[in-house]
Amino acid sequence: MSIYVPNYYKAFRCIADRCRHSCCIGWEIDIDKETLSVYKNVSGAFGKRLNDNISQEDTPHFILGEQERCPFLNERNLCDIYTELGEEHLCQICSDHPRFRNFFENRTEIGLGMCCEAAAELILTFPEKMKLVHTETDEKTPFFPEREQAFAILQNRSQPIKERIRILKETFGITLPEKTFSEWKEVFLSMEILNSRWEALLKNATGVSPAFQEDKWQIAKEQLLVYFVFRHMMPDGDASSALALCLVSYEMILRLCKTEADLFDVARMYSAEMEYCEENTEDLLFEIEIG
Ligand code: SF4
Repeated sequence: MSIYVPNYYKAFRCIADRCRHSCCIGWEIDIDKETLSVYKNVSGAFGKRLNDNISQEDTPHFILGEQERCPFLNERNLCDIYTELGEEHLCQICSDHPRFRNFFENRTEIGLGMCCEAAAELILTFPEKMKLVHTETDEKTPFFPEREQAFAILQNRSQPIKERIRILKETFGITLPEKTFSEWKEVFLSMEILNSRWEALLKNATGVSPAFQEDKWQIAKEQLLVYFVFRHMMPDGDASSALALCLVSYEMILRLCKTEADLFDVARMYSAEMEYCEENTEDLLFEIEIG
């Protein structure tokens, strides 16, 4: 099986205790079978602590503590399982995060999800055009021409982003729903909200943003669009609906930013709320499809 990753993938490093929005807070952390059986056999005081903090109800998971912190995230925001048992004994979900995988017939693509602040910053500031590279060889297998075409349009740096978007819409026959910013806010507010900061951001936003109005941050805007296309455009799906979802996501993020400095955080929040909740992604797609 060929595995492809974006060219920025290997540069990713978890910033651990410097992370302001640790993935070890606020998410249910399920434990895969193999890791669970290792944890069950850990002896001594740490073994007891480990097993006392695992719920066996439904899918086994860690019992979150105050403010929904993983019980093994210590006061320095470092993982005690990592320290006590080593990286190889983190459960699958913890070793994988923030990676996502898209599986196809003859290849797997692995990306970094923008819900992680280190990944968001890496992706949005990466100066080169994103391209997918084979993890072991220089092999370049042509794949899914529509997506290649979308990448080529969005990465045409001889044109401003607005023009690239216009060409993308024209090429793929994309029609976005005619909604005002306030109407879009209502749509997003009606979905499942995972974090109250997201709700407050939506409620207080006016939609008048320098990011949206001014023709700047060209690299970050390109990388944001390319990220969404990479993550959501599938060979067996409807290209124009998927691209419409990418464009709505892009516009929403830009309209919610007051300054350039907000971009990483807003992109991170958007990804956590929309991309990590299947229902929310489906609801947004539904809104787009009904216009
Ligand atoms: S969100 Fe990203 S940077 Fe923060 S702890 Fe998780 S993987 Fe590390």
